[in-house]
Amino acid sequence: MDININEPVKLAEDVYWVGAYIPEDQFQCHVYLIKNGEESVIIDPGSRITYEITKRKIEQLIDLKDIKYIVCHHQDPDIIGCVDQLLSDMGNGRERFLITHWRAWALLKHCNWDIKLYEVEKNGWRLKTGNRVLRFIFTPYLHFPGAFCTYDCKTKTLFSSDIFGGFTPEFELFAKSAEDYFEKLKPFHEHYMPNNAFLTHSLDNIENYELNLIAPQHGSIIKKEFIKPIIEKMRPLRCGLFERFTNTRDVIKLSKLNDILENIIKIIAYQEKFYMIIDKFLYNLRQFYKVDSVRAYVMDVEEVKILEFNSDNTTVNIIKDDNKLKQMIDASCYIKNGGMFFKPSQLHTIFGVHEPSYTFPIKDQNGKYYGVCFVIFNPDEFDVYVDLEVLSKFEVPISMAVLSERKEFCTRNKILRLHEESVRDPLTGLFNRRYMNILAELEFRKSKRYSQPLSVLMIDIDHFKKINDKYGHKVGDKVLKMVAQQIKNLIRGADIPIRYGGEEFVVILPNTTKENAFKLAERLRKTVENNPIEIDGLKIRCTLSIGISSMDDNPQTFEELVNIADKRMYAAKQSGRNRTLF
Ligand code: GH3
Ligand code: MG
Ligand code: MG
Repeated sequence: MDININEPVKLAEDVYWVGAYIPEDQFQCHVYLIKNGEESVIIDPGSRITYEITKRKIEQLIDLKDIKYIVCHHQDPDIIGCVDQLLSDMGNGRERFLITHWRAWALLKHCNWDIKLYEVEKNGWRLKTGNRVLRFIFTPYLHFPGAFCTYDCKTKTLFSSDIFGGFTPEFELFAKSAEDYFEKLKPFHEHYMPNNAFLTHSLDNIENYELNLIAPQHGSIIKKEFIKPIIEKMRPLRCGLFERFTNTRDVIKLSKLNDILENIIKIIAYQEKFYMIIDKFLYNLRQFYKVDSVRAYVMDVEEVKILEFNSDNTTVNIIKDDNKLKQMIDASCYIKNGGMFFKPSQLHTIFGVHEPSYTFPIKDQNGKYYGVCFVIFNPDEFDVYVDLEVLSKFEVPISMAVLSERKEFCTRNKILRLHEESVRDPLTGLFNRRYMNILAELEFRKSKRYSQPLSVLMIDIDHFKKINDKYGHKVGDKVLKMVAQQIKNLIRGADIPIRYGGEEFVVILPNTTKENAFKLAERLRKTVENNPIEIDGLKIRCTLSIGISSMDDNPQTFEELVNIADKRMYAAKQSGRNRTLF
C-alpha cells in the first residue's frame, strides 16, 4: 500500500490520520480524526508546529466547524499546543466539548478555553455520538496519572495515547513487523512508564476489547496482525529505567544495557563458573564499550592466599608470592567511615593493570570485603561519565559470580589438600606407610593376576644415629629430606616411594624385574654416596644399605615381599653397609 503522508491517511471507516511529519525527529506526534458529520471528533489535536498541516488535512475531509469533540488524553504541549488556534478557527456559536480525565482538567482549566468539559469518569467512560460509541479506557500513570485511551467500537480502533508509542529514527507511519516495532517501543516504555504493574494492568484492560488497529500518539500505527505478538512482548517489560540510571539521556542505549544486566543475573542463576559468566558479560558489553578483560583478586577462604579470576583463563589461579600481594592490597586500601576504599592507580600497577579500568571491591551482601575487581578498558574508549554509572550496576552480579566460584574452588582445594595430607609424610613428601598398604595390595594383586614383574627396595641410611648425634636433629631432618629427594629424582612416575619408618624407605617398583630393580638401587646408592649433602656450609656424606625382593621370591602376600627385602637390607648391614643385596 502506497501512503502519501502529505494527505490525510484513511485508517478505517471514517477514521483518518491527519498528523504532520516532523523532520529529523525520532519522536513523532500523531493526530487523528473521526469523521462523524457535525459531531466529528479530533483526537490529541497537536502542537503549534504541526497545526497548519493538520488543519489543511482536516479541511480536506470536513468543515472545521463540524468538530464537536476534542479528545485530550493528557495535557502536554504536543497535544494541546494548537487548541487555542483551533478553537478560534472553528468559530463560535456551537456547543463543543473537551473530552478528558479530571486529572488533566485540573491543569487544562488554566488554558481558559471557551469549551465545555466532558469528564470521562463522570460519563461512564463512554460517549455516544450519532451511530458511534467511543469507550474510554483508564491507563493510570502511563505516563500521566489521569492517562486514558479511546476505543472506537465501530472500527475497533484504539487511540492509545502514549501506550504503544515508540522512538522511530526513521518516520514510519505503520509498524513494519511486530519484532521491529517492539524494539522501537521498548525503550520508550521502559523510559516513560513507571513500572510493570501499571503497564500490565492497563494491557489487561485494553485486551478486554477486540482490537483491529492501534493508533498511538507517538511512533507507528499497529495493524491487527502485529497487535497480539507486540502485547505479549510488552508484558514482561520492567519499566522505570530512570530508577536505575540517572546520568544518561540515551534511553535506547540504557534499554539495551538494562537487558544485559538482567541477562547477566539470569546467567549467574544457571552457570557456576566465573569465566562463563564473564564471557557473556564481555560479549554483551562489547556492543557498547571496548572492554578488554575482567580480573578479580580475592582472598581464599582461609585468608592466606590470593586467588586470581581472569576472563582470559578458564581456571582460577593461586597467585605465587601471595604474602607480598596481600601486604600490597592492604597498603593500597584505606578505611573511611567504616567502608573500604581503594587507591586505584596504585592497585593497577600492583596487579599489572596499566590500562584504564573500572575498579571496585568484591563484597558480599553484608558488605564484607574479599578483594578487588578490574574491568579493563581499551585506553581510547573509556568514557568515565557514563561508564561509571552503568558499570556500577554490574558490581553485585560480578561479585556474586566471583564469590560463588571462590567458595567452590576453596572447598575443592581443601578436600584435595586433606587427601594429600592423609597419604603423605609431612617431612619428606613421600607417601606414608598407611597409604602404602592400600597401594601395595593393589599392585601385588595386579602383578599376580597378569604375571607382571614387581620389585621392592628396602632402603636404610647407614649410621644415621651418628649424623643426628653429631649435627643435631634438625640437620638430620634435612638429610632425610635430601635422601627422599634423591629417591624421587631417580624413580619413574609409576614407582611408589614411601617413608617406611624413621630413616627407612620403601620403593615399590611395578612392572620391574629384579635385575632392573638392582640397577636402580645401585644408581641410587652411588648417587647418595658420591654427592655429600650440603647443609649450612657442612658437607655431610652418607651411605645407604639396600635390600631387594621381587615376585621371583614367590611371596604369598605383599607383607612377605617387604619382609624379604628387609631381611636382605639387614644382611647388607651385617656384611659392611653401603651395598645392595638381592
Ligand atoms: P644403621 O646403620 O644400623 O641403620 O644405624 P642407624 O644409626 O642408622 O640406625 P638406628 O636404627 O640405630 O638409628 C636410627 C636413627 O634415626 C634413630 C632416630 O633417632 C633417627 N630418626 C628416626 N626418625 C627421625 C627423624 O624423623 N628425624 C631425625 N633427625 N632422626 C630420626
Ligand atoms: Mg640406619
Ligand atoms: Mg633403621
